[in-house]
Amino acid sequence: MSILNSFIKNDYKNPYILVCSSKAHMIYAKDILEKNNIFNELIPTPKGFGEICTTAIKFEKNNKEKIEELIKEKEIDYKGIYSLNKKYKYNLASILNMNISSDMKKIVSKVENNEDITKKDIVYLLKIKQEEEYKALIKMADIIRKECVGDRIELRAAIEFSNYCKKNCNYCGLRRDNKQFRYRMTEKEILKEVEKLYRIGIKTVILQSGEDFYYTTDMLLNIIKVIKEKYKMGITLSIGERRKEEYKLFSDAGVNNYLLKIETYSKRLFDYIHPDDDLDIRIQHTNWIKESGMRVGSGGMIGLPSQSVEEIADVILFQKDFGVHMIGFGPFLPAKGTPYENCKRSSLRLNLKVVAITRIICQNVFIPATTAIASLEKKGQTLALEAGANTIMLISTPKALREDYEIYSNKNMVDLDFAIESIIDSKRKLPKYLNYDYIESLGCKIGNNLK
Ligand code: SF4
Repeated sequence: MSILNSFIKNDYKNPYILVCSSKAHMIYAKDILEKNNIFNELIPTPKGFGEICTTAIKFEKNNKEKIEELIKEKEIDYKGIYSLNKKYKYNLASILNMNISSDMKKIVSKVENNEDITKKDIVYLLKIKQEEEYKALIKMADIIRKECVGDRIELRAAIEFSNYCKKNCNYCGLRRDNKQFRYRMTEKEILKEVEKLYRIGIKTVILQSGEDFYYTTDMLLNIIKVIKEKYKMGITLSIGERRKEEYKLFSDAGVNNYLLKIETYSKRLFDYIHPDDDLDIRIQHTNWIKESGMRVGSGGMIGLPSQSVEEIADVILFQKDFGVHMIGFGPFLPAKGTPYENCKRSSLRLNLKVVAITRIICQNVFIPATTAIASLEKKGQTLALEAGANTIMLISTPKALREDYEIYSNKNMVDLDFAIESIIDSKRKLPKYLNYDYIESLGCKIGNNLK
């Protein structure tokens, strides 16, 4: 039995959710439910019950009265308790009218009624060859994307502050055995880059590194404190597996999101690509992150050497079952100096199918058009936005260091100009929060229709 089954259950008879009014009340409510031995799990608030990327507490109906009593007694501030049997419905009539097979129509009807999509359905979608069915898949994802997250793109910016890593993942250019120039940015250097992003108007900074314990908890907490107090920006940490207590400290310090990709949900493949890691431990860490109150970022790599279509279906389903808020799937791209240096790169079409399927089954979540897909093919980011993605991550590492942070080779350094081009091409809109006067003074040309 996978460790996942100790955190989630798939056989709810009558599922309900509790939506609290804030993260603090949600964590408090979860704690109270645990103390009263009421099984519950944290999930992204489903479409129709609250804002995107917030967290709801899922439980079985027979605990509803007890939970209502506890809410009253402990003065938990909440927005509502809702039955998940009343599902949000989508209008997919235009897809059903397309020239597609009866098997495909059955899947579309399930999506329309918000019924569960099975592994068999996902495998069917991943194997689509007929052009009209592929178009139907992408169009279906685009309709759901529009209803769940709208037309505006969320722009986030990553500062890759250290390329040291103690691990040796077989696919990764930063693996410890790879002989390359290594760098670590100081707190001052990191904050200088944050200042630039703040002036552009970016609201969330991603602090990313290899697994580098040179940066102690205190050093990281200092940086977090300045970003929160001086710039009031959202923070995503992407620094690998840390200790359980650290996740709580990061969450309490105001970190909003923590990105720790599972990469694959196949134990065979996980062991093959990760000589230092264990799938159950990765899931345990992901659960600690969730329980700390931070939003969970996960996702995986598509087209890894020896990966089967069934294994891809499993890792997509994991995101749904576990309740991941931000799901980044990117293509496998070989990195120089690694054991997979000469392996075949992933295909664009397979990756676009994965983005579309992820939107269709996970719905009310953030899905990036990844840097990796923009590196696979220049148009990849635009096509991913058209297939259901809604987020772009800018590479905001100082120019002198960017080339040295290459998890895979020939990385596309997605900057503001490139992101804007992808947004124009996909006919989507830039976020309202950017400082357009300042951006235009830097030489970026932005059409009025994008703002
Ligand atoms: S994938 Fe992450 S943990 Fe693995 S070697 Fe690369 S940077 Fe290190």
